[in-house]
Amino acid sequence: MPNSYDVVIIGAGTGGYVAAIRCAQLGKKVAVVEKQKSLGGTCLIWGCIPTKALLEHAHALKVIRDAKEWGVTLPSAPPAIDMNQVQSRKDRIVTGLTKGVEFLFKKNKIDWIKGTARLAGKGKVDIVEGEQQTLEAKEIIIATGSSARSVPGIELDRKRIITSDEAIGLKAVPKTLVIMGSGAVGVEFASIYRRFGSEVTIIELLPRLVPVEDEAVSAELEKSFRKQGIKALTGTKVTRAAAGANGVDIEAQTPDGQTQKLTADLLLVATGRGPVTTGLGVEQAGIAMEKGYIKVDELYRTSVPNISAIGDVITLGKGVHPQLAHVSSAEGILVAERIAGEDVRPINYDHVPSCTYCDPEIGSVGLTEAEARQKGYDVRIGSFPFGVLGRAKMAGETEGFVKIVADKKYDEILGIHMIGPRSTELVAEAVLALRLECTVEELIKTMHAHPTFSEAVGEAAHATHGAAIHL
Ligand SMILES: Cc1cc2nc3c(=O)[nH]c(=O)nc-3n(C[C@H](O)[C@H](O)[C@H](O)COP(=O)(O)OP(=O)(O)OC[C@H]3O[C@@H](n4cnc5c(N)ncnc54)[C@H](O)[C@@H]3O)c2cc1C
Repeated sequence: MPNSYDVVIIGAGTGGYVAAIRCAQLGKKVAVVEKQKSLGGTCLIWGCIPTKALLEHAHALKVIRDAKEWGVTLPSAPPAIDMNQVQSRKDRIVTGLTKGVEFLFKKNKIDWIKGTARLAGKGKVDIVEGEQQTLEAKEIIIATGSSARSVPGIELDRKRIITSDEAIGLKAVPKTLVIMGSGAVGVEFASIYRRFGSEVTIIELLPRLVPVEDEAVSAELEKSFRKQGIKALTGTKVTRAAAGANGVDIEAQTPDGQTQKLTADLLLVATGRGPVTTGLGVEQAGIAMEKGYIKVDELYRTSVPNISAIGDVITLGKGVHPQLAHVSSAEGILVAERIAGEDVRPINYDHVPSCTYCDPEIGSVGLTEAEARQKGYDVRIGSFPFGVLGRAKMAGETEGFVKIVADKKYDEILGIHMIGPRSTELVAEAVLALRLECTVEELIKTMHAHPTFSEAVGEAAHATHGAAIHL
């Protein structure tokens, strides 16, 4: 049967396309249904890739602006950003990567069915738009991801009141930009558009920026943003936003109960994302849901046999499921291996790295100091500033630190939190340390090359035992 598959996957984001490749590697006949014109989902088209491409432009502009410091002579006109070039370079990168996924599909003999999928009873998926047909599948994996959402009372018009989907494609730098929410998406766009020249204000409901990070990291980011001229209104709630022809009128309630009025060219709503299940027929299929998310067990089985779900669209029914590309991919691999009959073990979500690519960058894994104390650990802390390192001085990137949270009793590392240059790369060592249940002593004995940024990790371990060499 041409329309009959071992596995049909709905959605070709980082969850779906990675699951498809792994299924094919394990000998399965696979089809992926994707309604967009290209493969790769949120991460490649609107998320990780375009935002980090824009951040690289912002970084390049920073280096060029500091030309004098580097001994580089520029023509007298101040360097400026050309948004047409920024957008076309970003689009080239995105297209290159989405075409790369297409190539991998061909290489692994995975069929891309172009259209919108709907569950159609046991082992059946209808393609209701696009290449209309019914697919038969022994196993179905739902990987339909998430989309940007607003909060009650704030209506998106996608012109003046926008989401990250629009913010990645701006053809002109807004003079004034207000950002609602200081999670990863909010602070990354703050870094991008501040460097490009916007007046940026972040409004955060909670008392600090990047509220899920260690408190010391939040404080360091706030200090750095202040220096860069990014205004942060924390503990503040946006209560009204009205888009007009020339901008947005915003009202916010400050921690002392006062109403603060702001106007901006654009309001970027970066308050989170919601699951995509509309029209998928999940309820009719009898799949158990929780607050709009598909409920799965620790091996990503839904309540209906032979239907699994992974990525941004799921909840494990406990805590917050991280909406991250690498999480969705890890889940995709696990499901593929389970379907192929391999011995699989549940993912440990305590070891998920969290990276925020604002300037300065943040990388973290494991328990924050507050979480460790709350769990009753006798906590030992060690911190080492990047500013002391030769390598950081050479790069002119001296902000931030590495902080280790450890358990005094067994010397086990519970969490590593860093803000500063290359933190999103350095966190890989921290993830491995936690995965291997490494002690502080073992990290001290792990040699770090000189001169590197990674010396900050080694020195933070020394500092945890009260013996940093360069402090
Ligand atoms: C601005 C931004 C920046 C981000 N940066 C990072 C980052 O730096 N690092 C990181 O790890 N994560 C980042 N993320 C999060 C990351 O993009 C997501 O966690 C990840 O893409 C989730 O993958 P997924 O496969 O679950 O879903 P998605 O990538 O959302 O893919 C779902 C796919 O399913 C398709 N689909 C949906 N319904 C149907 C249907 N009925 N039929 C056919 N196709 C359908 C959609 O078109 C889509 O292509 C970022 C997100 C945003 C918005």
